[in-house]
Amino acid sequence: MSELSLRQVSKSFGTLKVIKDVDLEIEQGAFTVFVGPSGCGKSTLLRMIAGLEDITSGDLEIGGARMNDTDPSKRGIAMVFQSYALYPHMSVRQNMGFALRFAGVPKAQIDRQVMDAARILELEPLLERKPGQLSGGQRQRVAIGRAIVRHPKVFLFDEPLSNLDAELRVHMRIEIAKLHKRLGATVIYVTHDQVEAMTLADKIVVLRAGRIEQTGTPLELYTDPDNQFVAGFIGSPK
Ligand code: ADP
Ligand code: MG
Repeated sequence: MSELSLRQVSKSFGTLKVIKDVDLEIEQGAFTVFVGPSGCGKSTLLRMIAGLEDITSGDLEIGGARMNDTDPSKRGIAMVFQSYALYPHMSVRQNMGFALRFAGVPKAQIDRQVMDAARILELEPLLERKPGQLSGGQRQRVAIGRAIVRHPKVFLFDEPLSNLDAELRVHMRIEIAKLHKRLGATVIYVTHDQVEAMTLADKIVVLRAGRIEQTGTPLELYTDPDNQFVAGFIGSPK
């Protein structure tokens, strides 16, 4: 069964239709990457799945249940924002536990879940630091840690590495791939970096002006792009 289904999903801002009749099935445990030019609707689609934007029409199912109107906190989803979205006045430990504290989880359980996530991400020595005392890569790991502590079934990443330098981006890409294997979670990852898409994805979804242009494995899109647009994006010589 699919972990996540979009059926004829559309989104309009006023009279501007930015997501157009999107049909998509995402298998449990799959690493799916959304690519496409700036403004094509990648972030909007992710935010609709997370519940941060209303769905104008169509259906969203997660784990077999319709979730169109479900509160974001009850969707079993965690969204990883860019590292600058950390709370600067809170320690790493407080940043990672914040959502759980907000949800009324008992302190002992928060401590346990934060420690587990810190161990996975090798953040234990940094738990009492503030974000300003961390490197870019460490801050990004904390941003991921904040998602992990909630034990989501689905992780959403919106260009999480775009403001890191090239070397760190490669390192974090490998970390994210390892994390996906280790947690066995379903991941949807937005990027406009072809190399990130090709190396991380089980499946790539190419978006263009609010529609899905083509879906396939990196190899399928590379060797058999449906058209010039997909070929241009995936970088095959066709
Ligand atoms: P991407 O992430 O692929 O760059 P977005 O999903 O951010 O694209 O945006 C898709 C389209 O929707 C763009 O034309 C953008 O201007 C428009 N858009 C996004 N958010 C809003 C909003 N809150 N109000 C009006 N238009 C929006
Ligand atoms: Mg975006």
